Amino acid sequence: MKKGTKLYSIFKRKCPHCQEGDFFEGSFFSAKVKDHCEVCGEKYAKEPGFYQGSYYVVYALGVAVFVTVWTSINLFLPNLSMVATLASIFSALILATPFMYPMSKIIWANFFFNYKKQNK
Ligand SMILES: [Zn+2]
Repeated sequence: MKKGTKLYSIFKRKCPHCQEGDFFEGSFFSAKVKDHCEVCGEKYAKEPGFYQGSYYVVYALGVAVFVTVWTSINLFLPNLSMVATLASIFSALILATPFMYPMSKIIWANFFFNYKKQNK
């Protein structure tokens, strides 16, 4: 994946500004955003409650999962009952939540931060 793109920051969980420092604290499933970047010093929360807006992104990701599972079931398992279809969709949503939650925050941050190459 190429550095300098927003996708790099999102999938590598790196600072959206310099793409060097880590964006989250702790493990892969951690959704705790660091206070600031350890490499470029950029503050990750532009204002109090900045990451509340990431709920819109969680919602959008949830809809994307819903549509993907729904379409796949209709394509590959057209005889599945409505109850089983809904159960599959909700299971997929529950499984995807630990990924969607931190991902939504870094996607949200990438709307507001632009990549700037660091001079070293
Ligand atoms: Zn940085």
